[in-house]
Amino acid sequence: LKIKSAEFVMSNSDVAKCPKSRLPEYAFIGRSNVGKSSLINMLTSRKSLAKTSGRPGKTQLINHFLINKNWHLVDLPGYGYARVSKSSKKTFQKFITQYFALREQLVTAFVLIDIRHKPQAIDLEFMQWLGEHGIPFSIIFTKADKLKPKAIENHVEDYKKVLLETWEDMPNYFITSSSKAIGKDDVLAYIDKLNEN
Ligand code: GDP
Repeated sequence: LKIKSAEFVMSNSDVAKCPKSRLPEYAFIGRSNVGKSSLINMLTSRKSLAKTSGRPGKTQLINHFLINKNWHLVDLPGYGYARVSKSSKKTFQKFITQYFALREQLVTAFVLIDIRHKPQAIDLEFMQWLGEHGIPFSIIFTKADKLKPKAIENHVEDYKKVLLETWEDMPNYFITSSSKAIGKDDVLAYIDKLNEN
């Protein structure tokens, strides 16, 4: 898949106001600081399509980007930052729940996980929630340049172990690094394949 065009469409705090078009949609989500903006910029070969935010938790919006005029890339807010209040966590949950409940255009979600860390409850819970709601997802491990190949393998194995306690199969996953441009073609080829179906 070659990215010929990537345009910002709109930011929303209300799922009902998201684009009405029926174009297939791919959502990117993960903990704040996981490298989501960097990954989106890598995938689209744009330096600052997604804004890397210095203030985690301030970008609580659903951002739609139109790619090659035929699919939407959706940048969802990051979860799991410590500095927000309980009530804004609740608002966030409601907002995300509504997004996944209402967006019939969603083909699959990509859950971003920092490869450096051991499996974290917040990510596992989120994937569990997606599974329970029948929302297809893949995992994108980020920042692979930070670890040696053996360590990457070990960390993926750790994830497999915990995920296979509740899932029959390991979800589809990708290993990426935005700073070294690793995994870009794999993710884009996957999206391309899904778009063809
Ligand atoms: P977001 O909050 O999830 O959108 O994360 P950002 O894309 O803003 O990245 C958070 C931090 O991680 C920034 O300091 C990035 O430079 C760094 N980062 C993002 N991707 C990578 C990567 O692939 N490798 C390394 N080494 N650092 C990364």
